Amino acid sequence: PNANLFAALRAAFPHDLDEIAVETDDGLAYSWRDLERASAMIANLLGSLGLKPGARVAVQVEKSVEAMLLYLATLRAGYVFLPLNTAYQRAEMEYFIGNAEPEVVVCTSANLDWVERIAKAAGTRWVFTLDENRTGTLLGHAATCSAEHEIVRKADDDLAAILYTSGTTGRSKGAMLSHRNLRSNAEVLKTYWGWTHGDVLLHALPIFHVHGLFVAIHGALLNGSKMLWFGKFDPKRVIAKLPEATVFMGVPTLYVRMLAEPTLSLAACDNMRLFISGSAPLLIETFNDWQTRTGHTILERYGMSETIMLTSNPYTSVQGARRGGTVGFPLPGVKLRVRAYEDGKPPRDCERDEIGNIEVAGPNVFAGYWRMPEKTKEEFTPDGFFKTGDVGKVDTLGYVTIVGRSKDLIISGGYNVYPAEIEGYINEMPGVAESAVVGVPHPDFGEVGVAVVVGKPGASPDADAIVAELKAKLANFKIPKRCFVVDELPRNQMGKVQKALLRDQHKALFI
Ligand code: ATP
Ligand code: MG
Repeated sequence: PNANLFAALRAAFPHDLDEIAVETDDGLAYSWRDLERASAMIANLLGSLGLKPGARVAVQVEKSVEAMLLYLATLRAGYVFLPLNTAYQRAEMEYFIGNAEPEVVVCTSANLDWVERIAKAAGTRWVFTLDENRTGTLLGHAATCSAEHEIVRKADDDLAAILYTSGTTGRSKGAMLSHRNLRSNAEVLKTYWGWTHGDVLLHALPIFHVHGLFVAIHGALLNGSKMLWFGKFDPKRVIAKLPEATVFMGVPTLYVRMLAEPTLSLAACDNMRLFISGSAPLLIETFNDWQTRTGHTILERYGMSETIMLTSNPYTSVQGARRGGTVGFPLPGVKLRVRAYEDGKPPRDCERDEIGNIEVAGPNVFAGYWRMPEKTKEEFTPDGFFKTGDVGKVDTLGYVTIVGRSKDLIISGGYNVYPAEIEGYINEMPGVAESAVVGVPHPDFGEVGVAVVVGKPGASPDADAIVAELKAKLANFKIPKRCFVVDELPRNQMGKVQKALLRDQHKALFI
C-alpha cells in the first residue's frame, strides 16, 4: 500500500463527495469533491515545477482553507510541507528559509517583496502568493492544471513535513516528520478520542503548528468529519457556533477567553461531545470553571512538534477519569519513561511519583532535527528514546503530570525547585489569576526564583503578602526572592508563557 498520509486521509472521505467538508466563518462551503479537486490541481502545479525529491515547500500565509489545501497538495505530490508562523518577520524568515532551503516558497502578497528577496538569496526557485480571499499567483497557476491527480507513492520513512518548534526555550529547530509519524498518530487518536460518524470539528487554531495543522485537521479528515472553520479565534462567534459542532480543540488561553463570555452556558455546549486542550498547561481553575459552566470535562493531552501527540486523558470513563492538572496516559504505541540523571551515576528509571526527565519512543517520534545532526544525537538516548526536555512524573495509576521544562528548572543552593509547584500555590491565592516563576542568577544561591503574578480582573494582589503566604507553606529554598504583580504574562501565539523573556527581564536583580 501507499504510505503517503494523504492516501489514508483520502480513503476516509465520505462516499458522497458532494457532502460539505468545510464551512467557513465567512459563509463559504467546500464539498469533499472540492477538497479532492483543488488539492489535485495544486499537486499538479507542484508536480510540474521539476522539483527534486524531498523538496521543501515553505508556507507563510494567513489561515485559510486554501492554505490547508496547499498542505494536502504538498503531501499528495510527495513533497515536504514546511509551515511558518505568520508572526515571523525578516530576521526570523531569513533564518528559516536559509536553514530549510525550500525550492518553493508561498507567502502573502503583502510580504512578497521582502520574502522573495530572502528566498532568492537562499536559492528558492519558485515564489507564489496566497491571500485570504482566495487570490494570489498560486491559485492562479493551479487553476490551469488538471483536477485529476494520482497520489504519489511514498514509503513510511519518507519526510512529509518539517515543523519548526515554537522557540519557547531557544532557537526553533526543524522537526523532520515522516508519513508514518503523522499517519500512525492520527490513527491512534481517531480511536482514542472516539471519533465517530456525524462528528463536526470546530477549527479555530492557527495551522502553522502541530495542534491546528496535524491534530485537528488529520482528526477531522481521517474521520470524514465536517469542519467549521474560523480564520481567527473570536470567543463570541465560536460560542455561537458550538451548537453545530461536536468536537473543539483549543490552547488554554482560548478556554479562558470563552469563559469570560456570558454566552458560554450549558445550553451552548449541549451538542458537544468533546473539548480538548493542549500546547500549554491548563490551569486547574480553568478546568473546574469549564466543568461548572458547560457541564463538560476538558480532556487535556500532551505533545510536541517532535512527536505529535504523546499522552492523553481518557476519553471513556471505563479507562478512568479525566484528571485536571495531569496529561493522562501514554497513548497506545507510545513508550514513555521518567528518568533521573544524577552526577556520577548511570541514569535510572524514576519511582512512581518521583519527578524526572520525560523520555519517549514510538512510531510517532520524529527522525531528527533538520540539519542539526549534533543536536539530534544529544536529544536521543543510546537506546533510542527522545529526551522531551519536559520534567514530570507518573503516578501509581499511570497518569502523567508535567511539572515544567528542564530548562525552566531552578537550582537554588543546590536544591531543585520546580516552578509549577510554586505557581500552583500562588494561583490558589485569592485575587490571583495566574503566575510564572522563573530562575535568575544569584551570587550566593546560584539561582533564585522570581514570581511574576497576574491579578484577577478588579483585584490587585499584594506581592509581599504572596511571598509571606508562601513562606508559611513551603521550604525556604523554594520561596521566590522577589515577586512582581503585572497586567499580563508574555505569551506567544500558541498561548505559551515566554519564560525565557521573563528570565531575561529579571536577570540583573541580584547581580
Ligand atoms: P522549543 O522546543 O523551540 O523551545 P516548544 O517546546 O514550546 O518550543 P512545541 O513543540 O510547540 O515547541 O511545544 C511542545 C511543548 O509544549 C512541550 O514540550 C511541553 O513543554 C508543552 N506542552 C504541550 N502540551 C502541554 C500540556 N498539556 N501541558 C503542559 N505543557 C504542554
Ligand atoms: Mg520543545
